[in-house]
Amino acid sequence: MMEPVSLPAVPRVALCGGTHGNELSGVYLVREWQRKELEEEAEAVVTVISNPRAIQRCSRYIEQDLNRCFTAATLSIPISDGTPYEIARAQELNALLGPRGSDCAIDLICDLHNTTANMGLSPTPIATGSACTSTSISRRRYPLCPVFWNGSGYSTQLSLSGIEFEGGVLEVYTFVKNIDYPRDPETHELTAVIHPQLQDRDFCRLCPGDPMFLSFSGETLAYKGEEPLYPVFVNESAYYEKGTALTLTRMKKVEIPPLCVKRLREGEEEEE
Ligand SMILES: [Zn+2]
Repeated sequence: MMEPVSLPAVPRVALCGGTHGNELSGVYLVREWQRKELEEEAEAVVTVISNPRAIQRCSRYIEQDLNRCFTAATLSIPISDGTPYEIARAQELNALLGPRGSDCAIDLICDLHNTTANMGLSPTPIATGSACTSTSISRRRYPLCPVFWNGSGYSTQLSLSGIEFEGGVLEVYTFVKNIDYPRDPETHELTAVIHPQLQDRDFCRLCPGDPMFLSFSGETLAYKGEEPLYPVFVNESAYYEKGTALTLTRMKKVEIPPLCVKRLREGEEEEE
């Protein structure tokens, strides 16, 4: 058993829902939190409904994918009447929760999404290089290197106070590459679907030679990689437009010590 590690509490947290307007779990959770806050039962966090227009239409976005609008380049585009809605909205969110890279930026943003893949609860911190950091407008660096946790195998508890994390072995999945559907070289139309033996097998080992796609004429197309990898976002419906049938990841096991979160009292400084 590893020695418990004491960490300072993250003082400024934002809870965001509806970054994609057709993913409603986060929207309802944020509204529930806001209702509880009114009753003074909830911890003080900044709550944000990220893309209200898209939520109203129950569509992923109005003009552009908001979740791809937080690059330094997009955040510095001058706003005019013709600016796409999501670019203007990303700049509003950056002003509210950032600005990116500044000292007054929120420390941790929990941006809640849904997936049509069989991934269960999957915390996806955004990592820079090999060091894993939390997703945050203030700390985002590109290119992104997402890390996926298989939350179903680990009890993930989020608390702003007290000792809550048991520690243990965590399976961590790091991005390797995206795979597109087989397509007709001229029309770019799909010629195959995810193979039934791969469907819903997110986080399961995929070995060279295993079935990957089933062509419309009934032919099985195998995974041709050189090493076993772990697929995630298998058949995610929102990624059809992005040309991604699945994402391949590499799994490694990381031992996490029991974590004790020390909450600072008002006026108390964090020890250096
Ligand atoms: Zn989403």
